[in-house]
Amino acid sequence: MNENSHNLNTNSANEDRFRALLKATSDVVYSLNPDWTIMHELDGRGFLLDAHEPTTEWKSRNVYPDDLEMVNEAIANAIATKNIFQLEHRVVRADGSMGWTFSRAVPILNDEGEIREWFGVASDITERKIAEQKLTEAKDVLENQKRTYETITAGTPDLMYVFDLEYRFSYVNRALLEMWGKTWDDAVGKGLLENGYEPWHAEMHEREIDLIKATGKPVRGEVAFPHAILGRRLYDYILNPVFNEVGEVIAVSGTTRDVTERDQWEQQIKQSAEELQSINEEFEAINEELRASNEQLLVTNEKLSQINQELLKAEQKIEEGKIALRLAVDAANFGTWYINSVTREFITDARLKELFGYLPNEDLSIEQAIAQITDEYREFVSKKLEDAIYNNGDYDVTYPVVGLHDNRLRWLRAIGNLKADPSGTFSTFTGVVMDITEQKTEEIRKNDFIGMVSHELKTPLTSLSAYLQLLEMHAHKNPDELNQRAINQSVKQTKRMTDMINGFLNISRLESAKVFIEKSQFDVADLINEAQEETKMLYSTHRFFFEPCNSIMISADKGKIGQVLANLIGNAVKYAQPGSAIRVSCITTTDTIKISVQDEGIGIRQEELPKLFERFYRVDNNNLISGFGIGLYVSAEIVNLHGGKIWAESTVGKGSVFSFTLPLS
Ligand code: ADP
Repeated sequence: MNENSHNLNTNSANEDRFRALLKATSDVVYSLNPDWTIMHELDGRGFLLDAHEPTTEWKSRNVYPDDLEMVNEAIANAIATKNIFQLEHRVVRADGSMGWTFSRAVPILNDEGEIREWFGVASDITERKIAEQKLTEAKDVLENQKRTYETITAGTPDLMYVFDLEYRFSYVNRALLEMWGKTWDDAVGKGLLENGYEPWHAEMHEREIDLIKATGKPVRGEVAFPHAILGRRLYDYILNPVFNEVGEVIAVSGTTRDVTERDQWEQQIKQSAEELQSINEEFEAINEELRASNEQLLVTNEKLSQINQELLKAEQKIEEGKIALRLAVDAANFGTWYINSVTREFITDARLKELFGYLPNEDLSIEQAIAQITDEYREFVSKKLEDAIYNNGDYDVTYPVVGLHDNRLRWLRAIGNLKADPSGTFSTFTGVVMDITEQKTEEIRKNDFIGMVSHELKTPLTSLSAYLQLLEMHAHKNPDELNQRAINQSVKQTKRMTDMINGFLNISRLESAKVFIEKSQFDVADLINEAQEETKMLYSTHRFFFEPCNSIMISADKGKIGQVLANLIGNAVKYAQPGSAIRVSCITTTDTIKISVQDEGIGIRQEELPKLFERFYRVDNNNLISGFGIGLYVSAEIVNLHGGKIWAESTVGKGSVFSFTLPLS
């Protein structure tokens, strides 16, 4: 049983006091019969219409129609349970408008426990209710708004947030929460530091919030800081003031956008633009060069076409020349050949084959050709050929060949020319061969004649020399100055004549390849001593200095080497003023011996030096000094046959040095 009803029930004496209490309250007071059909009385207190007479109309008069059902239910429930009625519901106020009341009624029970009467109070809660309703509506609006914002802000990757003026986040969007890895409740209402901002960063935003508060102006900035997953990122943010209705800043809203990629793009675009610019510039420069080159090319082209024309003309000339040459070759009846330095391919024409006694369709190899050269010349020609092909040596050789089929002896002169192939991999050795048998036979005949004449001349000369020696001895015993001088001169002239005839003999021998070297072992010092003796006897006009020579044995033709030395000394005497000095020296190195004859004579021009050793070559001396121009030629042949070298050094007006070497072994 309800405690209140029990008290009321058991303590009916208090009823009057209770009524008095009801009177003292400012609330509406009412009483009803047990089933609430009749309202005994109602003191409306200006809020509701009063009922001074019992009335059954109270529900329609006082209860707001829409809430009647709810009120009836509550009444039914209260009656059924005999419990206190308590309900907030709408009413029709005294002025006819709708109001709210909080109505409470207590059942008064009789002794049997039946409801006798209901007493109630109803307070005017209209204002509170309206306020509550507004609050609910406002909340709904707010909730709706938040949902709307959420929908808007959730869709963007941008970070959106609102700061209150104490730098606390009052709103953060989902993206920002996700970035922080926090829930709304964890983040909202918290400051920057609490949300994980570094102190410098938090302070920066706090300063900005202060600035916005003071100026009411937005702030825009960029900030870079590390992202948990994506690394260092760059953010662009705008903070905006939020004003109240009187224009005061009450909050700061912000939007932050991750512009790392945009920034990278911008950087790349900037870089690309710069690169493009420099490429453009380079292009421009290249273009410029191209233009210049083009002009050059045009000029060059013109020149080239001129050159081409010249070349064409030249080629034509060469072609004509070639034809002329071929005609000349044909006319001269030359044989021609071609040798490849690497493959040793040997191509010959029919004429060359004919000269070697071959039929035109027969093959001829280098080896076969060499084999047909006579014994005395074979090695010499073979060496010359190899030297020409591989050392670019000169090749102008004359040699006898025995024909293959006809067995005829032909004298041939071959002149060759080595030329590097443009590819650089091999050289071609080409040349002509001519038949000089006729001239050669003539020459040999002439030489034989000279040889024979020289020989014939030598016989009486030898007896003349013998007679002169007798006379010399005789004159020595019977001094007579005139006689002695005449005899001395005769001896000298006879000696000269003998030398000359010997020279002639040598020519004839050389020409017919009859200079034979007969080697023997002898001491070079002896050779020099003998030359010194002979010189003393022959020449009294010059001052001779024979430098001491080491005793050293060599293998050579003593007579021929003596002839070379005598020839050099004779030349020194011939081409130097009487009274000047002539020095003879000999120097030994590890593998050669060098003998030199130095004079203080007229000297020889540089360009003449290499030619001195050619046959019949004489430097033009206006016929002041007589000679045949064969002495040096013969000397060179002799030295070469020994495997040595001969050469001259000279200064015009100062003198000459003629030297030759001989191998020691
Ligand atoms: P020649 O019988 O004419 O002397 P050589 O063969 O001995 O013939 O010499 C050839 C030429 O070399 C000479 O005609 C001369 O012009 C020159 N010659 C040789 N020896 C000397 C020398 N010692 N000084 C100057 N000229 C020289």
